[in-house]
Amino acid sequence: MNNYRQYEDQFGIPLFVKRGLTLVKGKNAVVWDISGKKYIDCAAGHGVVNIGHANEAVAKAIGEQAQTLLTCTGSFYNDKRALLLKKLHEITPASLSRSFLCNSGAEAIEAALKFARFTSGKKRFVCAMRGFHGRTMGALSATHNPNYKKDFEPLIPGFTFVPFNNFEKLEQAVTEDTAAVLLEVVQGEGGVHIGKKDYFLKVQEFCKKNGILLIIDEVQTGFGRTGKMFAVEHFDLQPDMMCVAKGIAGGIPMGAVICSDGILLKPGKHGSTFGGNPLACAAALASIEFIEKNDLPGQAEEKGAYIREQLLTKSLPRVREIRQIGLMIGIELKEKAQPFIQALQEEGVIVIPAGSTVIRLLPPLTIEYELLDIVIGKLTKVLSRERD
Ligand SMILES: *Cc1c(COP(=O)(O)O)cnc(C)c1O
Repeated sequence: MNNYRQYEDQFGIPLFVKRGLTLVKGKNAVVWDISGKKYIDCAAGHGVVNIGHANEAVAKAIGEQAQTLLTCTGSFYNDKRALLLKKLHEITPASLSRSFLCNSGAEAIEAALKFARFTSGKKRFVCAMRGFHGRTMGALSATHNPNYKKDFEPLIPGFTFVPFNNFEKLEQAVTEDTAAVLLEVVQGEGGVHIGKKDYFLKVQEFCKKNGILLIIDEVQTGFGRTGKMFAVEHFDLQPDMMCVAKGIAGGIPMGAVICSDGILLKPGKHGSTFGGNPLACAAALASIEFIEKNDLPGQAEEKGAYIREQLLTKSLPRVREIRQIGLMIGIELKEKAQPFIQALQEEGVIVIPAGSTVIRLLPPLTIEYELLDIVIGKLTKVLSRERD
């Protein structure tokens, strides 16, 4: 008998509601627990392994880099970092040219907030209700959910929250001192709410006209997840800054803020010891190459549409709405989602919540159709169950 659970419970800080599984191995869209039981992973580490678990191309890149050079701060040039910076420029909207590399989504948001204040000389931000941007003090200040914030106040002042997809409310919330508008294109943690084209185009035009920076948080939506390399491509958005993380490096921790030439910084104004280290850069290069070579955005689009179509053919009276864009899927129930998430786990399918009534699916974009059919079957079975 192993003691892993006991050790985590006893020696870890209890910040997570544990799912009762000890995962020890993964391959593409399947993970194994310590007893050898298999699960279809429709969480992918919260939308991290878009390219699948234990991806061979990334494993090879990491292995080679580990034997070559693991660390190299930004004071020195580095081959892998140089190539990744160029790559990020090439795959992001034309408005974006230069990147700051860091280690997580929250760090990318922190950097973007500082860059916005430094560039504009203004202090305030407008963000969306239900928006999520991370747990550190700045990112938390930009996050809407009061339950995440209330025990940690005072947070950073100057953040105003407006309803998502409502341009008039956003327009009214802007003041002389607004540095930037910060939005997700699809609200992930907030319940998989998809932004409207018309809304985003109006917001973009308004920001341009009034000298307000537009920051888009693509931490969850980036790297093929929504059926495009980045969700901004659905609307041809040209933001001033774009924050990415989760799917960037195939599971290695990394974040980035990709900025337009209008974002001005100077040496010493920000930094990170680990940010842009050669290991993460090598993993990101291999991961992005894999995404491009295998057209994972195209795969996400097709597979997401397939799941939606299949679910719509079933009679599921508990379901209020299915929201889907690529392989970012929210199944909103008329009741609490937690018992169904637990039941799915018992059936060998791992999914995650998004708010209290939404079942969220973020599988690897490489998931096989055969497994999708099993997931659809299990979802149908669990959601059709009689009440106990
Ligand atoms: C996960 C997430 C973050 C925070 O990323 P971390 O790497 O957990 O700090 C920020 N924004 C969005 C949209 C996210 O989904």
